[in-house]
Amino acid sequence: MHRGPGQEKRSYIMSRVRSKGSRIEQSVAPVLDSLGQAYQQHVAALPGKPDFVLTLLPVAIFVDSCFWHGCTLHCRMPKSNADYWVAKIDYNRRRDNRQRSALRRRGWIVVRLWEHDLAREAAVRARIAAGMRRASGRARPA
Ligand SMILES: [Zn+2]
Repeated sequence: MHRGPGQEKRSYIMSRVRSKGSRIEQSVAPVLDSLGQAYQQHVAALPGKPDFVLTLLPVAIFVDSCFWHGCTLHCRMPKSNADYWVAKIDYNRRRDNRQRSALRRRGWIVVRLWEHDLAREAAVRARIAAGMRRASGRARPA
């Protein structure tokens, strides 16, 4: 099969996605540690499988890929199969909204970070700390 520019673009995107786990780990885990928070990762029992869930407060943290979750600043659709990608990213955004609304209805504070936020540790810390303040005094839902 001929390897066109579209495929190269896609494999570039996929290689970035595969590295997501370790980048999140390196960027968010030390912030949670410094805030004195114990946490669970990739909590499949909750809607949207939050990347981090605090152990003692009802705070669920998502770190969303700029591409897959349709960041308005950085999501650039591949030129090939454009219809497919537009529909796919739109589906992901709607699913994100549904899952996060479901979490809020259950009593969770949802902190959404973008992949592009990870470069600014102070901003990541401030967003998580704000979520913790909103959650303080609330019991973690079962
Ligand atoms: Zn972005």
